[in-house]
Amino acid sequence: MSDLTRLTAAQMADAMAAGDITSVQLTQAHLDRIGAVDGDVHAFLHIDAEGALATAAAVDADRAAGVELPALAGVPIALKDLLVTKGLPTTAGSKILEGWIPPYDATVTRKIREARMPILGKTNLDEFAMGSSTEHSGYGPTHNPWDLERIPGGSGGGSAAALASWEAPLAIGSDTGGSIRQPASVTGTVGVKPTYGGVSRFGAIALASSLDQLGPCGRTVLDTALLHEVIGGHDEMDATSLNEPVPAVVAAAREGALGDLTGVRIGVVKELRGDDSGEGGGYQAGVKQRFQESLDKLQAAGAEIVEVSCPNFEYALAAYYLILPSEASSNLAKFDSVRFGLRVETGTIERTMGATRAEGFGDEVKRRIMLGTYALSAGFYDAYYGSAQKVRTLVQQDFAAAFEQADVLVSPTTPTTPFKLGERIDDPLAMYLNDVATIPANLAGIPGMSLPSGVAPEDGLPTGFQILAPAHEDARLYRVGAALEAALAAEWGGSLMDQAPELEVRS
Ligand code: GLN
Repeated sequence: MSDLTRLTAAQMADAMAAGDITSVQLTQAHLDRIGAVDGDVHAFLHIDAEGALATAAAVDADRAAGVELPALAGVPIALKDLLVTKGLPTTAGSKILEGWIPPYDATVTRKIREARMPILGKTNLDEFAMGSSTEHSGYGPTHNPWDLERIPGGSGGGSAAALASWEAPLAIGSDTGGSIRQPASVTGTVGVKPTYGGVSRFGAIALASSLDQLGPCGRTVLDTALLHEVIGGHDEMDATSLNEPVPAVVAAAREGALGDLTGVRIGVVKELRGDDSGEGGGYQAGVKQRFQESLDKLQAAGAEIVEVSCPNFEYALAAYYLILPSEASSNLAKFDSVRFGLRVETGTIERTMGATRAEGFGDEVKRRIMLGTYALSAGFYDAYYGSAQKVRTLVQQDFAAAFEQADVLVSPTTPTTPFKLGERIDDPLAMYLNDVATIPANLAGIPGMSLPSGVAPEDGLPTGFQILAPAHEDARLYRVGAALEAALAAEWGGSLMDQAPELEVRS
């Protein structure tokens, strides 16, 4: 049998349904791969070989008995370690949660179990999902499989690296300001931030509740769509959950793959295109080149390309870095030494709380808690948090106007290809600038996708193409994304991941 880990998730499902392979074989192949390369990649914080194989064996037994199974039954998956998993360690990348075993499942975890997908383990992330490189993880960084000296993006670098190193065919991420899309961009994979409320946040450890959204990660647009349909839908446990059916994203991906975008209007966001003026300054030449080539492909597929302007995006990053710390400072108050995880005993409860938080939280988390507490304090609330909320409304209005002129909006996902580990860790502002193109979608609650647009000629590293759609119109991302993916695959003679360098395998 050729290497099972190289199949797409859709092919894995078909091969199991046809009786060509079993889920135990498939799951074992991924566990072997993790054993061979994760010492170098460090995508996983926890591996559950026993649980994954037990799920796989049960699926195989049911299939043999003729039981009807869900579409992705038996296809293994990795979960960002921000999703609580009953009986499995959950750390959110923080030392403050080391050793904590949740007593319940997140809704997304439950849906994955109901879909009968073996859970390989929990993936690394920046502590409490604060970051763009996984270097803020309390457990050491993840390495980019394209170049182990480089960042895999963040905060969901573990999930993206697991995909790009063939350790898992599918993964779950969370996106508060880009943590699904930016890691996808720098690892040559696909990631989707659904419409806010489209996937339940119940049991996802909260960073900034008005911005957070869980979403699917894969190596192809269709695989990502298949997972989106598993995890989406209404949940009474999440008060912000949309009360509507999951958009028909699988059908949209299949339609898009046929390659006809006649009648689709694609808006290039002037402010996110990488012009040297405004927020676009500082984009790498190869990123801009691959973006333009992708636009040409979409036009060749029949789409109409228009330019749109979103003048208030200039303020989006600043507004985000007030709203996010404000909400985070409140959400993280619950880590108090009493309820979960770490406890540094000092004799009095006040000092124990302080000592626990001082030891358990890393620098970036402390920085944001201080920023947020300050922004929310009496006397500064209107000047900072209040102003940021007004900018949020302006960003939403910019999107509304742009979507009058275009069905989807597009930009490069990130201004550069992955940078070197250590390069920006001491410069928070440089780190924050990674997210300039992804943050507006979170402020507005709209869906977004990143998919590979190639590798930059100057460094041979992946570049990402971002597609944004109006709220509830997630299916448009998949239609346009699948069309672009098909056009690029025709040119490359396969997927971008086929061009990734081979990792050294350790026995
Ligand atoms: N990199 C961004 C930040 O540091 C986004 C984080 C996220 O989406 N979780 O806040």
